[in-house]
Amino acid sequence: MTDQNEEHRVAMAKQQQKQREIIKSKKKSNKGLLLVNTGDGKGKSTAGFGTVLRALGCEWKVGIVLYVKGKWKTGEREFFNRFSDLVDLRVMGEGFTWDTQDREQDIRAARKAWAVSCDMMQSGKYQLVLLDELNIVLRSGYLPLEEVLEGLAARHVDTHVIVTGRNAPDGLMEAADMVTEMKKIKHPFDAGIKAIQGIDF
Ligand code: ATP
Ligand code: MG
Repeated sequence: MTDQNEEHRVAMAKQQQKQREIIKSKKKSNKGLLLVNTGDGKGKSTAGFGTVLRALGCEWKVGIVLYVKGKWKTGEREFFNRFSDLVDLRVMGEGFTWDTQDREQDIRAARKAWAVSCDMMQSGKYQLVLLDELNIVLRSGYLPLEEVLEGLAARHVDTHVIVTGRNAPDGLMEAADMVTEMKKIKHPFDAGIKAIQGIDF
């Protein structure tokens, strides 16, 4: 038993040393990062909102622009609206969904939401800006990718930005500092189960 403990202690001490060296070789970021959550599995938006929560706990000022589901009542909207002094939550126009079926209106709404996003990102007022489902808008061709990349690059030096949504374009992933792909292993929707309030919205 004592031998086992001693072996463990030596192994852990070695690991601790290794870890310290790895951390020492890294430097502190001197700019806000661009993070992208994409893929066909669930969790892209919830990971974004989770980061918002963490940031608020660190007393950061946060901006959120919702590019889809604008009209729908969701748990996250209800929650963040209770903290409007801490989070600036904006919703794109009428809320672009397959419900609108009006391309011109969707494009106008996307343009407006993008203008709001650029203001937020450039103001320096926010340490974190979440652009939820911006990828969907890009995928639909409602905003040109070049313009979006320019806007993201022009963000305030201290502002981190998270972009979510399936099918992140290659150019966006190249520009990003972190890209996470949520991979579907299983989803209850495939088993015929409807979206669940509190879990899915
Ligand atoms: P969430 O908002 O729950 O984090 P998400 O942002 O990763 O999900 P979206 O593409 O925005 O995924 O889809 C939003 C809704 O669709 C959620 O209700 C989510 O549970 C559901 N969903 C996500 N992935 C899948 C999937 N592979 N099949 C069916 N429904 C899905
Ligand atoms: Mg989402």
